[in-house]
Amino acid sequence: MEKELSFGTRCVHAGEGHNPFGAHATPIYQTSTYVFENAEQAEAAFSGGPGYKYIRSAPNTPTHAAFISKICSLEGGPAGLAFSSGMAAETALVLSMLQKGDHLLATDVIYGGTYGLFSTLLPKFGIEVSFVDTTDRENVLSSLKKNTRLVFLESPANPTMTISDIVEIGKMAHEAGAMLAVDNTFATPCFQRPLGLGADVVVESCTKYIGGHGDLLGGVAVGSEKAISAMRRTAALAGATMGTHEAWLCLRGCKTLHLRMQRHAENALHLAQYLEGHPAVEKVNYPGLSSHPQHALAARQMSGWSGMLSFEVKGGVQAGRNLMNNLNLCSLAVSLGSVDTLVEHPASMTHAVMPKEMREKMGISDGLVRVSVGIEDREDILADFAQGLDKI
Ligand code: PLP
Repeated sequence: MEKELSFGTRCVHAGEGHNPFGAHATPIYQTSTYVFENAEQAEAAFSGGPGYKYIRSAPNTPTHAAFISKICSLEGGPAGLAFSSGMAAETALVLSMLQKGDHLLATDVIYGGTYGLFSTLLPKFGIEVSFVDTTDRENVLSSLKKNTRLVFLESPANPTMTISDIVEIGKMAHEAGAMLAVDNTFATPCFQRPLGLGADVVVESCTKYIGGHGDLLGGVAVGSEKAISAMRRTAALAGATMGTHEAWLCLRGCKTLHLRMQRHAENALHLAQYLEGHPAVEKVNYPGLSSHPQHALAARQMSGWSGMLSFEVKGGVQAGRNLMNNLNLCSLAVSLGSVDTLVEHPASMTHAVMPKEMREKMGISDGLVRVSVGIEDREDILADFAQGLDKI
């Protein structure tokens, strides 16, 4: 799809329109395998030729191919791959890019599952891992090692919304001979395009904003042909392929991504401002607030603030629990990026896997509440928080 079309138009049109029988919507090609016309054609396909062979190997199905074509257009990358989950995409990334003796430098404020993968699985294979405060560029520079092969950033980071400088860290990583990968789950390509800022690979959980309705599990990676072809082999060997129905749901989800993200961001800014002025609230973390320590950097590398925020209520963990137990409209649930507002407690839910000292060092206090702000009418979201905060 032509890059010149604007983002919203590409959300709607990219990857679409090559269907049999003139079908308007891309069909769900519910097939595991493909029939060859003759042995020669089969041999050519299995010797590295193009075309479909078996669902576990990319391009998987024409439904997957349409989704990949759309997401590549949105992220601005030449190649992509769809996975069974965001974690599967990250696992394929690290297993493809790193080997025994290599070093991975990762953001310290990071999704708990990613922390678990990097801290428990990789050391088993002789891969060294450091979790570094990547909001401080000097820190990154002094933590790069001779054997650093991959720098992994999450920005905005889950759950404190810290921002890392993708352009500067990309330059540092490349000078050190390492690749830069960015988890773009929170911002989505609607608000941040890491490949255009110098990253080599972008990974994303499609379970969140890409699917957008809280009804699927999926992941995606987009990047250079070289990086993605290394991941294709790992993904096929690991069997980490996205299901066909999920690929179709992701394709459909992308068609409204620009509209949903705009509304998520508008609602989140209003809620962040409301909470910041509330006497029961200690602190609000949202990149769109001028009080956010990296507000200026966020404005440079993002075109919107997205729908994720976190905040601390006065009175610590019990006050936070009281709030979550008293919300009516908003649901208490992990995951994010759905049309409805979800609230969760990182210390006991998404980030429970992290040692308490590490959580506290990163600002994930026991009283921190994370909100994935939905696309409901804003006055109803605010009213729910107002009555919940009254009861703490
Ligand atoms: N990255 C981030 C920032 C996340 O928040 C999550 C899940 O919450 C993941 C990756 C993993 O995604 P999935 O649950 O699709 O495996």
